[in-house]
Amino acid sequence: MTKSIVLASNNKGKIAEFNLLLAPLGYDIKPQGEFQVEDAIEDGLTFIENAILKARHACAQTGLPSLADDSGLEVDYLNGAPGIYSARFAGEHGNNLANNELLLEKLNGVPTHERGARFHCVLAYMRHKEDPTPIVVHGSWEGRILESIEGEHGFGYDPLFFVPECGCSAASLPKEVKNSISHRAKALTQLLTHLTPKVPF
Ligand code: IMP
Repeated sequence: MTKSIVLASNNKGKIAEFNLLLAPLGYDIKPQGEFQVEDAIEDGLTFIENAILKARHACAQTGLPSLADDSGLEVDYLNGAPGIYSARFAGEHGNNLANNELLLEKLNGVPTHERGARFHCVLAYMRHKEDPTPIVVHGSWEGRILESIEGEHGFGYDPLFFVPECGCSAASLPKEVKNSISHRAKALTQLLTHLTPKVPF
């Protein structure tokens, strides 16, 4: 029997990515917009808090189990910024161009070896709104910040994120490649181990 999970996001890319991996396990991922759920107020101070409060909000509004993700970029030279504020680093939520310009400005003149950075993704799965033990998993992806944008794919900070294992920016990677090695892929792989039914031996 298919089990519906509400995703605390309306991002089509994320819905497709989650469905691809979870459909074979019998899960059907539905965006929270399908249930007229408004975005939760993200006032946590960590990716973990924000993922849990988004998941709890979606559960409370729909009565269904829910999955939420919270992600962002941590830059060493900036003491971890933009972190949980990645989407609105330059002020306006989701303005990728302005965010990338600000990041370049803040790292202007900083040598390569001090440009270390990583993406983080936290996923929170809640069985119901009072679930006292949500499943929380974390994936990260190491890289460094380039001195100019590179690549046409992806979103957000991808054109400035150099991936050493691939020798190019995240935005230069085909979607399938990024989706198999990214912070989100790593978190999802962990989530799968928790959601896969345990076979007794
Ligand atoms: P959210 O978790 O979708 O809200 O992502 C927060 C912000 O982090 C995004 O708006 C991007 O700026 C950044 N971010 C998260 N994941 C990625 C990624 O895979 N590539 C580029 N930027 C990302």
